[in-house]
Amino acid sequence: MRQSQLFTKTRKEAPKDEVSKNAILLIRAGFINKEMAGVYSFLPLGLRVLNKINAIVRDEMNAIGGVEFFLTSLQDKAVWEKSGRWDDKVVDNWFKTKLKNGTDLGLAFTHEEPLTQLMKEHIRSWRDLPRYPYQIQTKFRNEARAKSGIMRTREFLMKDLYSFSENEKEHEVFYGKAKDAYKKIFERAGVGESTHLTYASGGTFSKFSHEFQTVTLAGEDDIYVCGKCGVAVNEEVVADFNSSCPECKNKDLKKEKAVEVGNIFPLGYKYSETLGLSFIDAEGEKKSVFMGSYGIGPARLMGAVVEVLSDDKGLVWPSAISPFAHHLIPIFDKEEKALNYADKLYENLLDKGVEVLYDDRDMRAGEKFGDADLMGIASQIVVSEKTIAEDSVEVKDRKTGKVEKIKLKEFLSQV
Ligand code: ATP
Ligand code: MG
Repeated sequence: MRQSQLFTKTRKEAPKDEVSKNAILLIRAGFINKEMAGVYSFLPLGLRVLNKINAIVRDEMNAIGGVEFFLTSLQDKAVWEKSGRWDDKVVDNWFKTKLKNGTDLGLAFTHEEPLTQLMKEHIRSWRDLPRYPYQIQTKFRNEARAKSGIMRTREFLMKDLYSFSENEKEHEVFYGKAKDAYKKIFERAGVGESTHLTYASGGTFSKFSHEFQTVTLAGEDDIYVCGKCGVAVNEEVVADFNSSCPECKNKDLKKEKAVEVGNIFPLGYKYSETLGLSFIDAEGEKKSVFMGSYGIGPARLMGAVVEVLSDDKGLVWPSAISPFAHHLIPIFDKEEKALNYADKLYENLLDKGVEVLYDDRDMRAGEKFGDADLMGIASQIVVSEKTIAEDSVEVKDRKTGKVEKIKLKEFLSQV
């Protein structure tokens, strides 16, 4: 893409009322737009990052047997009344609305109930199990606080997968696979090292569930990280473990601020029993389906990546989720040598299918570099009179700041 065609502009300041680092940087770099507190739109660059995160999430969910679907955000009150979650006293962050005839509707804050209801049409016998439907879909929550930028918003994308198993044993096998898939997702998104599998309270069915918590001062949660194996426990359950690691029993736990980027949760028979989702097992006996739920917030994850990796110059994207692989930056000269050279290089890269943002704007080098650092594209390719004379390009790694002069031919064979 030519930067001259990208309508978004970088800016020196974010809105005065914005307090979160991720939102300030993403707004300044033109990745998102603040519509109101806790509500952000994604602009072309931000959408590219979000789509790359979604692609990683899809890839890992498909790899463990997930099948993608897309449920509606408008929800039927009846099914929520059956499960007991329609009441605002039970769920305090519902957005609700009404049809013209007065019928109540809910705006999806999650999808256990409608999906369980839907699966009643498709699960009859043990042959129909297990099933792992998932979606990447819009949720609405009337969050009380909205101070964490895109990490806590009132309208947000959630990847939610639900497992439907014959019994607890079958469930546990999948639960383990989901745990591994989550680890891979956070590694691929660039925050593997700062993201910890965290024991949390399990709700009604099991004693524990698991959160994936990314350590950052911008987080709203306190977790206790094992210095030996890296597993953590959250505030709710730390007392259950007598302040020692639930996995390796080490006593050296370090308190950290963290944000929950995902969680996995055994639901047991809670929804299948209240909504009547059953199957006939191999012996002809009628049984309730054993369920689990598995959530990730792609935009929250994007915000966490910004919080963890950005530096004093701006955003820093790991190459796997960088909006473009390369940022091509010609430094203008009077004879337009660099511009002509860069034009050809840009076309060449496009032909090779390389994702490149081409800064074809007529601006001072310093301004271009400032913008490029703020946007944080993983690799910057600088073309100037000097590099042309040497038949080379300068490749700067945004993260390390390391600059390498590479012969053009070699660079083209590498990409
Ligand atoms: P939290 O405890 O932070 O409020 P939660 O436990 O209510 O989150 P879930 O209902 O389990 O979250 O949602 C699954 C995932 O969706 C979370 O792990 C998080 O990544 C993401 N998520 C939840 N709420 C929001 C929000 N308001 N904005 C952005 N992402 C969210
Ligand atoms: Mg939570």
